[in-house]
Amino acid sequence: MAFVVKKNIRGKDYFYLNENKRVDGKVRTKTIAYLGKIKKEAEKKASEILKSRERKIDKIVLVKDKKTDHKKGTMEKKNISIEELTTFCKRKGFVYPSGEIYGGFAGFWDFGPLGVELKNNIKKLWWQFHVLSREDIVGIDGSIITNPKVWEASGHVSSFVDVAVVCKKCGNKTKIDKYEVGKALCEKCNGELESKGEFNPMFATSVGPISEESIKAYLRPETAQLIFANFKSVYDNLRLKLPCGIAQIGKAFRNEIAPRDFLFRSREFEQMEIEYFINPNEEKCPYKIPNVETFIYSEEIQKKNLEPIKMRIKDAFEKGIIKKEWHAYWLATELLWFKSLGANLENFRIRQHSKEELSHYSSDTWDLEYKFPFGWKELEGIADRGNFDLFQHEKASKKDLKVFDENSKERILPSVICEPSLGVERAFLVFMFDSYFYDTGRENIVLKIHPKLAPIKAAIFPIVKINKDIVRISHEIYANLKKEFNVIYDSGGSVGRRYARNDEIGTPFCITIDEEGLKKKDVTIRDRDTKKQIRVKISELKNILAKLIEKEIKFEAAGEIFE
Ligand code: ATP
Repeated sequence: MAFVVKKNIRGKDYFYLNENKRVDGKVRTKTIAYLGKIKKEAEKKASEILKSRERKIDKIVLVKDKKTDHKKGTMEKKNISIEELTTFCKRKGFVYPSGEIYGGFAGFWDFGPLGVELKNNIKKLWWQFHVLSREDIVGIDGSIITNPKVWEASGHVSSFVDVAVVCKKCGNKTKIDKYEVGKALCEKCNGELESKGEFNPMFATSVGPISEESIKAYLRPETAQLIFANFKSVYDNLRLKLPCGIAQIGKAFRNEIAPRDFLFRSREFEQMEIEYFINPNEEKCPYKIPNVETFIYSEEIQKKNLEPIKMRIKDAFEKGIIKKEWHAYWLATELLWFKSLGANLENFRIRQHSKEELSHYSSDTWDLEYKFPFGWKELEGIADRGNFDLFQHEKASKKDLKVFDENSKERILPSVICEPSLGVERAFLVFMFDSYFYDTGRENIVLKIHPKLAPIKAAIFPIVKINKDIVRISHEIYANLKKEFNVIYDSGGSVGRRYARNDEIGTPFCITIDEEGLKKKDVTIRDRDTKKQIRVKISELKNILAKLIEKEIKFEAAGEIFE
């Protein structure tokens, strides 16, 4: 059956000649030709086409609003469980269980095409914010396996231990810190825990092909030690001046007793760390504490069993809750980074470690915590490490690791006033949870992720596949944008379905090329979060898209609003 279809696309009528055919027992609709915008001409054109095929028009059907994006509804925040996020990530190509065709492997995950883009964006934006945009921080990339003496000197071989425990009531297996033995109860049922002994989570390996001559080494359990081991070379080569930092992003491995909660606790993960060095006799922070507010959960508040207090980090420092200005500076800076990428700070708090909880090397540690669906958990540790590590490496290597401080004109062993240490995967989870919304109109998920983080920056749609000029221009636009941004070409299904598909994976902008645009040499851009559309000239598209991704211009101001 052949019929003419009138489609209303963003308020305008377009006519098409369609045909229904039965294929394998199913009725399939195929568009035979585009007939223009005027009904009479469309009917005439359709008759001519069908005449040449010796067919008649069967009927004219109005297909209601199918390609418009005016579906009423609201965008609602959806709180999902970690299991739901795991399923979503797998279904959409973000993250897969590693070696899944063999049943997976506990604690190991593979990042799919969208996941790798998001993860790379997180790392790139972290590096830009913490290293490239600052004068006082440089970066390194240390090796995963290094001389095992590094781990002996740092104390990891002898005292990096977790205690394996099993709940006597529900059988839940987990790990606790040494200081929690005899105090902690089962996190699932509050049952009593039975200790199964201490366990060093470092993965050991042997280096060298002949077993008798091989050396026992370790996959690094943290990136920090490679910074300490290289500290003096980096400081001297780059002619650094205190205060200054060395940053690193890289893989770390821990043979976790109970890997769980998707990416939250895995056995292979990545860390983004900074060791920030100062002269221990000069603790003044020359930078302003960024103006951010969060929930403060100091040791005192915890001891008194009170609720965390919301206040500016700057005020917490001035009130003496956060003891050191540098610590306040780094806590606020880290929160600012999350905020700048769209994370919701209402889901964050900073929690101070109690005296018993503090690591042997730290005099004060605050964790940036996030309200995960499975409770408040550590996202990033920010420790005052003092000069413990450089001191240990100086002693063990017998190398002088002191450096010259320009300001005090003396040779000193610097102190690490702060060590912000953030897991890439935990940041990944935060951005996924905070951007997970539901569109009640379209009835589909919308990942409202910051455009800078979005795996795909824009999807390019030819409005119809049958118009050769539209397809050609769409391909040209796609090829041109692809040189600079990760964009996709999407011509499958109705425009509505294409919007929904892209909303779900967080594509912030959909660019449509239509009949009108062919004449005017322009396109429409549709904003994921507001569904508003603007028309912009093709010649300005690249420039405008770059500004929209960076949020340098408001969407409505970037082009002519199109209803
Ligand atoms: P936790 O108490 O959760 O085991 P930790 O205090 O041992 O963490 P750190 O040694 O301070 O963690 O590591 C710094 C950061 O590295 C953590 O804040 C976290 O973001 C990340 N991280 C640590 N262990 C893991 C893991 N097993 N899986 C994913 N990320 C991790």
